Amino acid sequence: MSQKVPFDLSNVKKCVCPGCPVQAKSGCVAGLKKQLAGALAKTPPKKEEIPGAYCATGRATCTDLDPSQPCQCGGCPVFSEYNLASGKPAGYYCRDGQAM
Ligand code: SF4
Ligand code: SF4
Repeated sequence: MSQKVPFDLSNVKKCVCPGCPVQAKSGCVAGLKKQLAGALAKTPPKKEEIPGAYCATGRATCTDLDPSQPCQCGGCPVFSEYNLASGKPAGYYCRDGQAM
């Protein structure tokens, strides 16, 4: 099956994962956020440098996330734009893999 959500700068910028409580205590994500300006300057962006857009790229490379916290995808513009509520998984892409 082809990728449902394109991994491009436009979607990365709309993504609300960087503010999600699932990632709030991740040291790995904190490190990526510090380098984010440089990561966003690359075309195409590199999956392992972006702390979000997991609906496009699949499971997070950072392994210290906390999925007991609430996923914020339902409030993301990318989620509604690509009608991700009708797909699987319908959130927690950082844990469960890319949107299909
Ligand atoms: S739907 Fe979720 S993973 Fe996809 S861009 Fe929005 S917040 Fe990020
Ligand atoms: S995919 Fe959902 S749970 Fe994971 S970081 Fe993004 S908003 Fe949070």
